[in-house]
Amino acid sequence: MPRKNCGKCGKTLDGKNLFLCKECAAESARVWYYEHKEDPGRKGRKAKYAKEYYQRFTKDYWNAKISTRRRERRLELRTEILNLLENKCALCSFADERILEIDHINGGGRKELREFRAKSWNSYLKNVLESIKRGEKKYRLLCPNCNRLEAWKREHETP
Ligand SMILES: [Zn+2]
Ligand SMILES: [Zn+2]
Repeated sequence: MPRKNCGKCGKTLDGKNLFLCKECAAESARVWYYEHKEDPGRKGRKAKYAKEYYQRFTKDYWNAKISTRRRERRLELRTEILNLLENKCALCSFADERILEIDHINGGGRKELREFRAKSWNSYLKNVLESIKRGEKKYRLLCPNCNRLEAWKREHETP
């Protein structure tokens, strides 16, 4: 849980700053700058560092950090899934992993997507990965062409 009050002066935080209020964060950055101004290798960049240090007390800084981590995790999960599914289209063997799509073999993918997307994309990918690891044959990779063609068939051809 984020703090509601400044950790130094106890003032109520305005929502943009975390841990410390604006004034205390600025003061803390000033102290940090003072303590580091003689650091070798930082000459000329000191002001920038002090500003970056100040950023750490703001919500935006941590939000950006969290979304970076999520993006990285998403890529990790996708790579792992693609590797397990042999990095190629299950129908035509097209193998450009940048545009391969994860397909739910027996349909039901849409409902599942909706369910998990409400939580997060990463939780959906995690669920797919776990299913593959359990040995269930629920998912396959399709290239965009085959995916479109399969959708067309489902719509136009009666089994
Ligand atoms: Zn304060
Ligand atoms: Zn294909």
